[in-house]
Amino acid sequence: MGEMFCFQCQQTAHNTGCEGRAGVCGKKSDTANFQDELTGALIGLARAVRKTQPTEKTDELVLKGLFTTITNVNFYNDTICELIDEVNSIREKLCPEAENYDVQKIWNDNEDIRSLKSLILFGMRGMAAYAYHSLALGYKDSQVNEFFMRDYAQLQKKVIWKNFWHLY
Ligand code: SF4
Repeated sequence: MGEMFCFQCQQTAHNTGCEGRAGVCGKKSDTANFQDELTGALIGLARAVRKTQPTEKTDELVLKGLFTTITNVNFYNDTICELIDEVNSIREKLCPEAENYDVQKIWNDNEDIRSLKSLILFGMRGMAAYAYHSLALGYKDSQVNEFFMRDYAQLQKKVIWKNFWHLY
């Protein structure tokens, strides 16, 4: 694997993955790696929420964070890092023992697990885009937010088949 890894969209290099100093879309490797860190921090937050209680802020952060990592949405390292700090700070207050997840584990896992987890992750990013826009317009749904927290937290698990079938 090169300086980054991203294969979340149809522009992906050679139809396999963007791995160099920048993706086909122009996303630089440092931005891609910050987005991975944000993804892992959000999994940590989802785990913390599962052990405690969601709040309006945690619901908003998960949707905003997932949306931030979609293709061409945000390439600004400063704002991504601010979001990582905010997510980590709230996770720490909620449940210090809830750990963040290293997304590299997904990229380096065997191809079946990588494919399965990526499919779920990218699907959730897409869903979050709609949910985040709805939130901006004043609409929210506790069942939708619960779905994000429950299933996003599962991405760090080795066995997620149960959730996969639950999702589809
Ligand atoms: S989002 Fe950008 S870096 Fe990721 S696969 Fe698409 S073109 Fe490549």
